[in-house]
Order: sequence, then structure tokens, then C-alpha cells
Amino acid sequence: MNTTKSSILLIYTGGTIGMKQDINDQTLKPFDFSQIVEEVPEIKKFALKVDSYTFSPLIDSSDIEPSSWIEMARIIQEKYDNYDGFVILHGTDTMAYSASALSFMLDGLTKPVIFTGSQLPIGVPRTDGKENLISSVEIASAKDEEGHTLVPEVCIYFDSLLMRGNRSTKVNAEVFRAFQSPNFPYLAEAGIDIRYNSDIIRKPLDWYQNLSLNTNLDTRVGILKIHPGMNPKTVSAFLSEPNNRAIILETYGAGNAPMTKWFLNLIAEACANGKIIVNVTQCLGGTVNMNLYANGKTLSDAGVINGYDSTTESALAKLFFLMGKNEDNNWVKQMMIRNLKGEISK
Ligand code: ASP
Repeated sequence: MNTTKSSILLIYTGGTIGMKQDINDQTLKPFDFSQIVEEVPEIKKFALKVDSYTFSPLIDSSDIEPSSWIEMARIIQEKYDNYDGFVILHGTDTMAYSASALSFMLDGLTKPVIFTGSQLPIGVPRTDGKENLISSVEIASAKDEEGHTLVPEVCIYFDSLLMRGNRSTKVNAEVFRAFQSPNFPYLAEAGIDIRYNSDIIRKPLDWYQNLSLNTNLDTRVGILKIHPGMNPKTVSAFLSEPNNRAIILETYGAGNAPMTKWFLNLIAEACANGKIIVNVTQCLGGTVNMNLYANGKTLSDAGVINGYDSTTESALAKLFFLMGKNEDNNWVKQMMIRNLKGEISK
């Protein structure tokens, strides 16, 4: 395998990786990119060229908004021909949302877009940020004998695992293994070598196709997590809220919800009024199957659509993207149950 090193653009958005402790209030605040390079001189040994683009202001990823995704996507498009791969340094809190969103917003991707960050700031001796950054740069620049990049996908690299972005979720706020991809195998694992799981990495039909952007996002989506003791008034207000064009219903297990009459009536009424209601499980792993239990079947009979084994982050990003493309809710529902970017097992 030819792993010719090439040119990489590092897009630094913020996050713990580039933060240090403020001496006044002890909270973590971002520092600038030159300090990251100072902390990780190894970067210079890698690619022929590593350039950077820094967000201004740098942000804690809790402040990420769809406008930030548009900024990331636009930079990638603008610089697309000049680089072989892109590494996005990003806070961990919303990294799975951003990676999911970019997987839908970037159409015709033939180059790697690797999100990474860290649990400990890069200036701290035990930081996980150095390895995450160095391996991400290596993955973003890796090519095969024909000169094609090995991972032309939007991914998250974290703690030696490369995951499909729209399959990943943050599972831990403390340990270094902060992300998992419970319903899809890792695309690569880094040990002494980086072992790529090439058979499952998505490849473009045409390596020379142009990249196009979908930046029209319709964010009128609400997330309703089912729980014992739900209040009819709250649920009713949420389902009838006009700003919720779509609702992600986070259900139990294989897609189940209570059979209570008031609840089912509200769901059926919302579906009849044209709302898009998508069933996604609260479980970390596994899929929604609304034909397995009577409780699930009543939801599907009411018009709820199957989110299969989607993460909530990916279902949200997919709805933003599809609703931004088309005002017709029936079209959105049909597209939601299709596998567009490897986000569901279907
Ligand atoms: N709050 C930080 C962020 O998401 C946490 C992190 O980077 O790990 O930006």
C-alpha cells in the first residue's frame, strides 16, 4: 500500500484539545492554533504540507450551530482542490452532530474529512490530543497505489478508532474512549499500524466528481424522549408546536412506546396533520423494529416512520438536510427510510 504523504488542511474550531486553564476563574478557555503546533511538533514530520484555518472566535462545541457547519463545509469546498484531506479539530460535546451534518451536506466527497479532538487539553502531559491529532493527519493523508485516498468519508477519529461520522456518538465524558459506533464496525483501528477495514469504507463511483454543498438546512425538528410519567399537556404542546415540522421520537428498546390511549391519539393526530415523526431507539445499540411488539406496531400504524439503527444525532442532521431540500413532507419521509450516506443499516 502506498501511503504517500500529501497536503492537509487543519480546520481548528475550538474544543478542549486547544484549551488551557484561565488563571483567574480556573475554567478552560481556547488558545490559538500556533500554540497547538508548538505542542505537537510531530505534525511537521508528516504531510508535505499542513496548513490551517482557524475559526474566529474559537468555540466550545456546545456553541456549535448549523451556521458553524455551513462555515466548515464552505471552507472545505473552497479549498477542496488544494488539499488531499481535511482534519477538523472540534470539541467532543457536539462532534457527532457536526460529523453527521457534514456527511449529508458534502455531496460527492472523494477526500477524507476527519473530525478529532481530545478529553484533555493538548498542553497537559497526559493529553490524548496528540495521538488523536497525529493519527488523524496520517489517516487524512493516506492513499492507495492508485493515488486515491483510503477513507473518502466524513469520520471521527478518537482513541485509536476511526468511525463513520454519522454512526458515532459520544458515550463518555471522562475516559479517553469518548466515542463509539455501536451499530457499525470501525473503519480503521490504530495500533502499531493503522488497519483499515477497507471493505466497509464508502468509495465514490467517480473519483473525479465535483464536490457540491447542501447548505439549506431546515432546523424545525424537535426531539421527544419517551419516559414513564409523561404529561399529556406537555406532549400535546410539543407535538402541535408549528415549529416542529418533524419530531424524533426517542423510544424504548426496539422502538416501543406506551399504549396509553391519550398518547397514541396525539401521535396519530400529529401524523394525520402531516408531521414527520421518526422512531429512533434510546438504546445505544440495536435497531428499531416496529413489527416486533404490539406497542411498536401501534406507532407504525399511526404513521410513525422507522429510524432503523440511526443515532439521534444522525437522524437530526438528516432531517435538517432533507427538509431543507424539499417542502413536501411525504418526500422527506420516503427519503428518511433510505440509506443515503451509510447512516442506517438498510
Ligand atoms: N466542552 C468541550 C467542547 O465540546 C468538551 C470537549 O472538547 O471535549 O468543546
